[in-house]
Amino acid sequence: MQLYMFEAGILQSQKHLFTLNQGVHEPFNVPVPFFLIKHPKGNVLFDTGNALETVNDKHNHWKGILEVYDPVMIEEQWCVNAIKNADCTPEDIKYVVLSHLHLDHAGGVGHFPNARYIVQREELHFAYVPDPYMKAAYIRKDFDKEVDWMILEGWQQDRFDLFGDGSLIIYFTPGHTPGHQALLVNLPNSGPMFLTADSCYTEKNLNEGVLPGLMWNAAETVRSVERMRHLRDSIGARIITGHDPAAWKLLRKAPEWYD
Ligand SMILES: [Zn+2]
Repeated sequence: MQLYMFEAGILQSQKHLFTLNQGVHEPFNVPVPFFLIKHPKGNVLFDTGNALETVNDKHNHWKGILEVYDPVMIEEQWCVNAIKNADCTPEDIKYVVLSHLHLDHAGGVGHFPNARYIVQREELHFAYVPDPYMKAAYIRKDFDKEVDWMILEGWQQDRFDLFGDGSLIIYFTPGHTPGHQALLVNLPNSGPMFLTADSCYTEKNLNEGVLPGLMWNAAETVRSVERMRHLRDSIGARIITGHDPAAWKLLRKAPEWYD
């Protein structure tokens, strides 16, 4: 099994949106990561980054949210093109696991013709009818597609073992949104890696108990972070945070990989 890490460009943003009440209006550029796992039973994408439209048509596609999250991406960084760096084609993808359906994660939905798209039921509902404060972060055009959805049911299906061999476990990690999920990748040589996506933006959120600047539910956010800290301390999982520029810089990117 191999884990490849990709960057679908960056978001030009502000620090307090990632660390509540800290760095208010301070410029902060964050990576937009997504991941490919090559498993003997099939290739799996975890998230898909920004949509291709952010390259040439971002004002029309992202509209007002550009004031706080401004994507900078080139065509080669769009997930469909980028996976070529790992010798993978869109047709080769068997599952797309979506942490949640925010605009910088769901930009590749519908572009993997043979894939099942794994999402939490709560997330799909919320994405269609979000609370007003989070409306701009969901772009219906990105996810309102005729794809083969595979729906997970929150706590009932927590720690969903994708291939039944313990290598890829989907954790229910609500808080950032109602139906957020994260992925534990148990690599034979590198050890366990926990891909948090937006259930933990940065090392500050992980280590210093700082809340993120955008969330659906603060208490659930704290519980999900507690859970990953426990995974780190108990099984030695390496926590790969969702939007931390400094931590991201230290990781290997495709065409290199972890195995
Ligand atoms: Zn998000």
